[in-house]
Amino acid sequence: MVKVVKFGGSSLADAGQFRKVAQIVKEDPSRAYVVPSAPGKRCKTDTKVTDLLIQCHNTAHFGDDWRPILGRIKERYEEIRHDLGLNARLEDEFTVIEEHLRKGCSLDYMASRGEYLNGILLAEYLGYEFVDAAEVVLFGEDGKYDAADAVRKMRERLGDRKRVVIPGFYGAKPDGSIKTFSRGGSDITGAIVAQAVNADLYENWTDVSGFLMCDPNIVEDPRPIRVITYRELRELSYMGASVLHSESIFPVKDAGIPINIRNTNEPEAPGTMIVAHAPADPEGDIITGIAGRKGFVVIRIEKDMMNQEVGFGLKVLKVLKDFNISFEHLPSGIDTMCVVLNSKEVAGRENDLLSALTQAVCPDYIVMDRGLALIAVVGRGMRSQTGTASRVFSAVAEGGVNISMIDQGSSELNIILGIREEDFEKTIRNIYHAFY
Ligand code: ASP
Repeated sequence: MVKVVKFGGSSLADAGQFRKVAQIVKEDPSRAYVVPSAPGKRCKTDTKVTDLLIQCHNTAHFGDDWRPILGRIKERYEEIRHDLGLNARLEDEFTVIEEHLRKGCSLDYMASRGEYLNGILLAEYLGYEFVDAAEVVLFGEDGKYDAADAVRKMRERLGDRKRVVIPGFYGAKPDGSIKTFSRGGSDITGAIVAQAVNADLYENWTDVSGFLMCDPNIVEDPRPIRVITYRELRELSYMGASVLHSESIFPVKDAGIPINIRNTNEPEAPGTMIVAHAPADPEGDIITGIAGRKGFVVIRIEKDMMNQEVGFGLKVLKVLKDFNISFEHLPSGIDTMCVVLNSKEVAGRENDLLSALTQAVCPDYIVMDRGLALIAVVGRGMRSQTGTASRVFSAVAEGGVNISMIDQGSSELNIILGIREEDFEKTIRNIYHAFY
């Protein structure tokens, strides 16, 4: 059994958190590859080290005095080093960073130092080998990263080294210059390592005990999700639920490696397991999660005998393409078609879009409704259970809320409802309580 364990910034924010991490790693010898983030917030008002590094770089860039900010960063690492009694020569590391800053280093280089330094400290504390991500995470010349290529190169370069710490979030281009992923990108590093070493499990340690069935700011104390499939996760994260960097899913998904989201501050909780397939358990939860987003518009197009007009849909989509707008959903009836769009993409062009559509398909009726929220009720258990849709719709109706659009995915994995934005929170609560 081989596990890759990634620890997020809050899991490594100070010496106390380092101790918890070491305990977790040491109690299971299969945790052979460790990917740390940079120290995150120690409390709500604290600043992440990555943000301080970016601030420091920008200050240097504008010719202002960056030393006080670098001083704060140094202090954070020194505190951890001192408290844990480590010997790492941070002074030397900071001298190199200062030299780079003076020479006008790149933002990517500077931002990456948070993970780099944390990796050095964690490796020493765990007694693991430190492997600089610049040596094993390789981007293309153009700075893009290709997951398959990155995995292949990492496999070659890592060889059969085990018990290693590889800092998250960055790698290097072929010329050696540092390149970072987008923010939160340590998740991606963990996923690449997991695939490169053929891990049996990718553990992603954070500060929540897995995914919750819905947003706890909307529903009080929602149930945790024990098992979720990649497809369900995709549906929920499209709707705004977020814990993982979305790009981190693909490498492990393709390799069939499950991801376990765990809580460093509550290591005994099983967290959420993300898997490729999970049998629909007749005794289990029918619904896996409920998520939603505000900020949509829907265009309703009606035309008699639409169903017989060859190419009708194509003409509608061509107009969207000409406006460079991607559609979110396309629920259609016999003589009606609805196009759901993100309002940001349409903003300021509403009338032009309606005129272009009118010209393209000569509808009997066309109208745009704004202020729409979408709610997705997602669950692989819905396929085998009768009456799920009726429970969802009754719950919405009992709240006195009008549903202006319904879309049930053909895979029967989700039901998507369109409602007014002002009814959003109430409707999520009512649907959740119809099941729990
Ligand atoms: N430290 C980086 C950030 O704050 C990357 C990460 O934590 O995954 O975005």
